Amino acid sequence: MTKLLMYSVRPDEMEAIRAWSRDNGVQVDTNGLEFNASTADLAKGYDGLVIQQHGSIGGPDVYAKLKSFGLHQISLRITGYDIVDLDQASANGLVVTNVPAYSPRSVAELVLAQAMRLVRHLGESSVRQASGDFSWNGLEAREIHDMTVGIIGAGKIGSAVARIFRALGSRVIANDPVHRPELADVLDYTGLDELLEQADIVTVHTPLDGTTHHLINGRTLAAMKPTAFLINAARGPIVDTQALIGGLRSGRIAGAALDSIEGEAGIFGVDRSVSGYDNAALDVLEAMPNVEISPHIGFYTDAAVCNMVQIALDDVMTILSGGVSPHQVN
Ligand code: NAD
Repeated sequence: MTKLLMYSVRPDEMEAIRAWSRDNGVQVDTNGLEFNASTADLAKGYDGLVIQQHGSIGGPDVYAKLKSFGLHQISLRITGYDIVDLDQASANGLVVTNVPAYSPRSVAELVLAQAMRLVRHLGESSVRQASGDFSWNGLEAREIHDMTVGIIGAGKIGSAVARIFRALGSRVIANDPVHRPELADVLDYTGLDELLEQADIVTVHTPLDGTTHHLINGRTLAAMKPTAFLINAARGPIVDTQALIGGLRSGRIAGAALDSIEGEAGIFGVDRSVSGYDNAALDVLEAMPNVEISPHIGFYTDAAVCNMVQIALDDVMTILSGGVSPHQVN
């Protein structure tokens, strides 16, 4: 019988995993560990591998080890595949797949929630209420239909974000090298500088790669309106965290919401209330009432979890049977 191993499995994924295993007649074993050099040996004896994490899977030795175990693939049950060195994977005959679209709405709806918290100053209000200050001072807000939403990267998730804000009556502009005709009624494409100058909410939905690392930096933050909000529910390193802290402290922008932050690996998704963690920038941002932090939960809805499990496992079987998955990234 074909035997697959899934790493970093959460209890909420088990129902979908058991159902897939039963329906496909394939043994699927699970563990709660991240995949890396110290846990890679667990994959020995398995036919296929599914992982999900936000930290790197390790250096060249890890890829060589998987090859020596006779494995032919690494399937990620997430979208971003920056944790895998694709050159190393290819060099060791490992096909890498991701789940490019498990539910773009899941992230888009979190962006809506973050935007509304920022726009209505709910963070500021909560802090004040905790000390008995129920005054209205500084809480006057704008209405979302009067605002311009600027989307950097209007792909699957950015398009879903655009449709939500357009439905609320906002003007939506987007910067993306790819112009999608199906979005003609939803948004207007602009240059990046124009977007930064005009948007009341700037929300980033690009992949993390060489062109987008620190795309939001001192220069781009300075180009935003001082009344504007920044949202990053894509990948942490797209925003230069120190520049963001500087921009918030100096009032260069009005607030920010982050579902992903530099150095989040090993922190987001983990209970660190007892052991603590080492990310001073996160502490600084957590203490700011005009900053909303969520621990990389954009993807985390029931529909999305089920799709991630099923699509990743289907991809493993496609590759093991000699087929080509539409989700191959190398
Ligand atoms: P996608 O590939 O469908 O869309 C990305 C878009 O960005 C594309 O249209 C591309 O042309 C555009 N783009 C690329 N480089 C650009 C640049 N320099 N400037 C402007 N546009 C650029 O990707 P997606 O599925 O929509 O995912 C978007 C991001 O969301 C990724 O970073 C992904 O890792 C992240 N993500 C986060 C969560 C979460 O839980 N917060 C969940 C899923 C995905």
